[in-house]
Amino acid sequence: MMKTLNDVLRKIRRDEKGTVLVLAAALMTVILGFAALATDVGALALEKSRLQNACDAAALAAARELPSTVAAREKAVEYLEYNGVSPEEAVISFDSTGTRVTVEASRQVNFTFARIFGLSGSQVSAKASAVFGSVKSISGVVPFGIPEQKLVYGQEYKLKAGSHDGYGPGNYGALALGFRGASSYRNNLKYGYGGTVSVGDWVLTEPGNMSGPTAEGVNYRLSLCRHTPKCTINSYHPDCPMVVIVPIFEPTYLSGRDEVKIVGFGAFLLKGVEGTGHESVVSGYFLQMVPPEGLRYTLDPNGADYGLHAAKLVE
Ligand SMILES: [Zn+2]
Repeated sequence: MMKTLNDVLRKIRRDEKGTVLVLAAALMTVILGFAALATDVGALALEKSRLQNACDAAALAAARELPSTVAAREKAVEYLEYNGVSPEEAVISFDSTGTRVTVEASRQVNFTFARIFGLSGSQVSAKASAVFGSVKSISGVVPFGIPEQKLVYGQEYKLKAGSHDGYGPGNYGALALGFRGASSYRNNLKYGYGGTVSVGDWVLTEPGNMSGPTAEGVNYRLSLCRHTPKCTINSYHPDCPMVVIVPIFEPTYLSGRDEVKIVGFGAFLLKGVEGTGHESVVSGYFLQMVPPEGLRYTLDPNGADYGLHAAKLVE
């Protein structure tokens, strides 16, 4: 009897060992399977993000060459190759108006471990589109304005006029953005208007010369240039507070508290303020550049270009 019981117990123990072994083997397979999938899925994600980066960079660089689609295509190929994507893996296309470039790339990724499950590999692809256009709306503008005209790079312009500069009585080309009054004008000049101004907006002008707030605002911005030597038209940093975004408006004749229509935006490097009282004049040099860092803006590929333009990724 005892012997038989011992035999039975031994048998059970043996069976348990067997069961544990079977369970362990099954578990190992599952764990290895997950590890394998994680490795291959990781490789797939990495390859996808590489392709996406290459497409983004190529589309942005190409958009800056528009409307020349030939130059844009060359630029796209250059950036794809630089980012490890061969032109054979990519398709570069343009919309019918030549204002938008799309770069698509795809490649086969071979699996290492997932082959256990009969999966040999997978195709990954990425796509990016970019447009080039003039700034259509932007935050951070200063409360100056200049009439619509042909602007020449590097040339000096009066951003706020004196009493003999061609506007009507009591008007010096200053704008009332957000709020009226000299205090709002001074803050908008020092820090840039917090709201957004868009092409097509009608904006009130700020009458009066406001020579005090003008000098305070301009000198504040000049003092914020931390570059050595100080920024000049021959050598400036695009993100320097001396660079201001100025609305361009219509019409040219203004009288007192008037209204102007915004037609575009120009970037200027502040030169400084000269004169006092009604003859206080602010000058700046016209620049051609992309909007300074930190400003929110939208683009219009078909808008009139006043030198402030950019390439941007779009959906
Ligand atoms: Zn500077």
